[in-house]
Amino acid sequence: MRLPSVARGLAPLAIAALVAPSIATQARAQSKAPERLSATERSIARSVDAHNSAALALLVRLVDINSGTTNHAGVRRVGDILRTQFDSLGFTTRWVDGAAFHRAGHLVAEHPGPSPKILVIGHLDTVFDPSSPFQKFVKLDDSTARGPGVIDMKGGDVIALYALRALKDAGALDSMHVVVVYDGDEEDAGSPLGAARQALTDAAHGATAALGFEDGAGDPRTAVISRRGDISWTLTTTGHTAHSSQIFTKEYGAGAIYEAARVLDQFYRQLSTQRYLTFNPGIIVGGTAVSLDSTQSAGTAAGKTNVVADSALVSGDLRTLSPAQLADAQRIMKQIVAQTLPMTTAHLEFADGYPPMAPTAGNKRLLAMYDRASRDLGFGPVVAVDPSRAGAADVSFVANIVPMAIDALGLSGHDDHSEQETADLRMLPVQTKRAAVLMYRLTHAGGTHDAVP
Ligand SMILES: [Zn+2]
Repeated sequence: MRLPSVARGLAPLAIAALVAPSIATQARAQSKAPERLSATERSIARSVDAHNSAALALLVRLVDINSGTTNHAGVRRVGDILRTQFDSLGFTTRWVDGAAFHRAGHLVAEHPGPSPKILVIGHLDTVFDPSSPFQKFVKLDDSTARGPGVIDMKGGDVIALYALRALKDAGALDSMHVVVVYDGDEEDAGSPLGAARQALTDAAHGATAALGFEDGAGDPRTAVISRRGDISWTLTTTGHTAHSSQIFTKEYGAGAIYEAARVLDQFYRQLSTQRYLTFNPGIIVGGTAVSLDSTQSAGTAAGKTNVVADSALVSGDLRTLSPAQLADAQRIMKQIVAQTLPMTTAHLEFADGYPPMAPTAGNKRLLAMYDRASRDLGFGPVVAVDPSRAGAADVSFVANIVPMAIDALGLSGHDDHSEQETADLRMLPVQTKRAAVLMYRLTHAGGTHDAVP
C-alpha cells in the first residue's frame, strides 16, 4: 500500500499498544459468551488458534525472503511458497507471468463452489530492494516483531490463507467459491497498468465481495471502505516566442509561462475547497527549451529574460474519493484549460492510475458485517478509516466492479515503508478469526446474524 504522508507518525505504537490488550481482554471475557457464534464459527475460531504457531512460522519464512518489486526471482519464490499452501487447501493455482508489464507476475488461486463468489486480494512484493539493509524478521518481544513487509503485507497474505485453512478445517470451504489474487507489483505497478491489473479485474467479475488484506492505518479498530484514487496529469502550454518587449501585444500574446500560471491559479481557485479532492502540481518547467523526463520527476528548462517563453510543462497528481468526483474535477480542469490567454495554447493529459474507491452503501454493509463478526468474536467494534488517511491500494481497481469491498483486514502494526516496519503479533489470530467468520457469513446462509446479504 502507498500511504499518504499525513498518516505516518500518528504514533501507531501507542494505538496498537492501547488497542491489542483491550481487544485481548474483551476476547477472554467474550469467550464465555459463545452464543453469538454458530457451532461452525466456534470451530473456525478453534482452528485458527490451533494453527497460530504454524501461521507465524510461515510469516517468518516469507519475510526472510526479499521480494522487493524489482526482485522478480524473490517475488516468485514468495509466490511459490504460498502457492503450495493454497494447493494443499484444494485451490487450483496458477502463476500469471509479468513479462508483458515488466514485473514478476501474480499468484492466482481459485476454489470453485456453489456459494456467492468472494475475491481475496493481497500482494507478494515489498518496497525493500535486495540492496536494503532491512532484510530479516526480528522478534522484539513476545508480541512484537520487525521485518520488511511483515505488515505490508506478508502478514495479510498469511491471515487470508489461514482464515481459509480454518474454514477448510470446519468443513465450510467445500461449498465456497473463492478467488485469491496476490499481485507481484503492488508497490510499483507495472505498465501498461491495464495489463498489470488484468488478472485482478478479471477475478473481480461476478464476485459479491472483495476483501483486501493490507495493513491499513495501524489501528485494528478500523477498516478501509474508501480510498482516494490517484492519477497523474500533464499540462503543456505554448506561446508565441518574441522579444520580451512585445509580450502582451496582440501579435505575440502572453507567452507559455503566463498561460501555465493562469491554469494553475484557476485550478486552485475553482477546485481547492472540495473535501477529499486534491491536485498537486509537483514539477514545472518553462522557457524556450523545456523537457520533462519519462518519470516526470526531473526536467530541464532554458530561457532568457528578454525572450517570451514558448513552452511550459507541469506535471501533477489528482486524488479524488469517487468516480463522480474524479469525472467532475477532470471536466472543470479541461474547461479551465480551454480558456487560453491570447496567442497561447494549453493541453491537459490525464494518465492511468489508481481509481477511487468510494464509500458506497455496499462497502458500508460489508463493514457492518465485519464489525458484527468482530463483536461476536469478542474483539469489539470496527469503524471506517477516514479516506484521507488511507493511501492507494489494489482493492481500488475492483471497487467499481464488485458490489461490496473492504480493505485493511491484514496485520496491524506501524511504520510500514520504513526500516521500522513493526507488527503486533497478538493481532495475527484476531484478524484471522475476524476474516474467517466474515468469509463464512458471506458464503453461508444460516450463519448467525444477517448472513449472505
Ligand atoms: Zn501493501
